[in-house]
Amino acid sequence: MHRKPKIAFYWCAGCGGCEESVIDMAEELLSVADKADIVFWPIALDARFEDVEALNDGDIDTTFINGAIRLDEHVRFVRLLRRKSKRIVAHGTCAHLGGIIGLANLFDSHQLLECACRQVPSMDDPSAPLPETDPGDGQEEPALAALLPAVKPLDRVVTVDAYIPGCPPPPETMAQAITDVIHGRLPEPGTVFAHRT
Ligand code: SF4
Repeated sequence: MHRKPKIAFYWCAGCGGCEESVIDMAEELLSVADKADIVFWPIALDARFEDVEALNDGDIDTTFINGAIRLDEHVRFVRLLRRKSKRIVAHGTCAHLGGIIGLANLFDSHQLLECACRQVPSMDDPSAPLPETDPGDGQEEPALAALLPAVKPLDRVVTVDAYIPGCPPPPETMAQAITDVIHGRLPEPGTVFAHRT
């Protein structure tokens, strides 16, 4: 039986615009869903870390990863996806170069939490304890993923085969990259997908 190509998508630290560049493929996305097995796509599918772990190494033809590396769980996931994928594509400027998320490197983790949890005007209680210093009122709470000391582009953590520049990339470029995978043309290492005008 003909094996459909396996594709995965993962979102690290980003604004969601790169996910939108996939959704904006519109009807073409229906064709992708028909011609490929989308094995992991947290924004759209109910799949867990364990589901990816259960795949054979190299089983996913291509994984598209957007967003920069900000959290310890991003490192864990992208290393797992690297092992399970023949090709890894850095999808969008944050994954490629750090992008706007990389501006956080102008501050340390404590300053970032102070700003996000106390100083923004929408916070009701600017004296509230920071999440990293207060685990709750004695109740066990889910642990927050740890911030890394610095934001990194994807290729500082795993080997990246190809890049799709853009903030976000145009949906036409995404469609081109995904269509190549569907037709068995995995991106050659070093590929940079050019935007067609
Ligand atoms: Fe958002 Fe741009 Fe980063 Fe994509 S590259 S996640 S659109 S900021």
